[in-house]
Amino acid sequence: MAVGGDGCFLIDASGKRYFDGSGGAAVSCLGHSNERVVAAIKAQVERLAFAHTGFFTSEPAEALADLLIAHAPGDLDRVFFVSGGSEAVESAIKLARQYHLERGEGQRRHLIARKQSYHGNTLGALSAGGNAWRRAQFAPLLTEMSHIDACYEYAERREGESLETYGQRTADALETEILRLGPETVMAFIAEPVVGATLGAVPAAPGYFARIREICDKYGVLLILDEVMCGMGRTGHLFACEAEGIAPDILCIAKGLGAGYQPIGAMLCSKAIYDAIAGGSGFFQHGHTYLGHPVAAAAGLAVLQELLDRDLVAQVQARGAYFETALRARFAQHPHVGDIRGRGLFWGIEFVAERDGKTPFDPALGVAGKLKKAAFDEGLVCYPMAGTRDGRQGDHVLLAPPFIASEAELDGALDALGRAVDRVL
Ligand code: PLP
Repeated sequence: MAVGGDGCFLIDASGKRYFDGSGGAAVSCLGHSNERVVAAIKAQVERLAFAHTGFFTSEPAEALADLLIAHAPGDLDRVFFVSGGSEAVESAIKLARQYHLERGEGQRRHLIARKQSYHGNTLGALSAGGNAWRRAQFAPLLTEMSHIDACYEYAERREGESLETYGQRTADALETEILRLGPETVMAFIAEPVVGATLGAVPAAPGYFARIREICDKYGVLLILDEVMCGMGRTGHLFACEAEGIAPDILCIAKGLGAGYQPIGAMLCSKAIYDAIAGGSGFFQHGHTYLGHPVAAAAGLAVLQELLDRDLVAQVQARGAYFETALRARFAQHPHVGDIRGRGLFWGIEFVAERDGKTPFDPALGVAGKLKKAAFDEGLVCYPMAGTRDGRQGDHVLLAPPFIASEAELDGALDALGRAVDRVL
């Protein structure tokens, strides 16, 4: 039982301290006792806890939307606040559909997503996700969607193929799928700029997303980027897509937005999408009771102000470079480490039975789960993901430490992980 939080550490009921090396799942970017965020929440609860968005907007929601838009890439111009990542993705899927419908293109109904992806656990978002394990039990309830290959060069780049050629080849699969479905029937494509939970912090090959943007534009397909995990500074850019030099039509953010202080997510969309609906029916037919919750918005606003005022995104770049060097120094030569990849303070280590053949461990061994437990015993929280049963992906652990972590704290976390790895492998 967690009973306290102190900076980068969680404290359990026995008083044991754990370095929060993954923020749960990349949530706690500011650590656990940020005074500014706590004060903003208290002040907002006292002033106004709730006013339904069917009647009112609120100051913190307006201010947070303005600040997000001021820093958002491309022509993202409007914000729709929800309570988390799955809701942001559900909203994006429905917005894409309604946009095409209002423009007289009601035949556009296909969403294309990627294999080995995760976009949330509600049925629409789960349908979009391509993670076989998460989908299996609910398969009869899921909407049929296309899943093209992920951009996962460690496992899938061919021998002798350059990274750029691999990126282009993988992106071109989107065009092939659009043509197979019939371009006039495709509504949107969804992907994470850096794949989080399912692959373990895997960025795309250079040029991949530029080509994806080109293909979407060519066929009038909306590009939805899911930055629920990798957004809000985690990769060393406020928005992960900045590193790719592209902007989406719809952007989903969540975890780092509330930094764990409040449940909040958001969907940002371009002016063109907003205008099509505003000038059409005038009403986005979607919503939840807690849309734009004032207290959640106040927390999100304070989090974003902290990121900006303390220049924490630049700190992520600096600490991220330190972390990468330390991570590689400790683990790159380990006989069971196949790959280390990531960006900023978002890193994955993929463990394999045999390095040369990139052969994953037998999933029955439960290597990722054992690593999670051993690390926990050593006082480190890290996020595990078991390898896939089709043998395409090994076990990995994801590391997403708080942006405020010192170099010494990061070293301590890697020491703990090293001890855990030594115990398990
Ligand atoms: N999208 C991505 C990329 C995620 O990693 C997650 C959660 O891990 C979600 C969506 C769902 O977010 P939530 O758990 O807040 O509903």
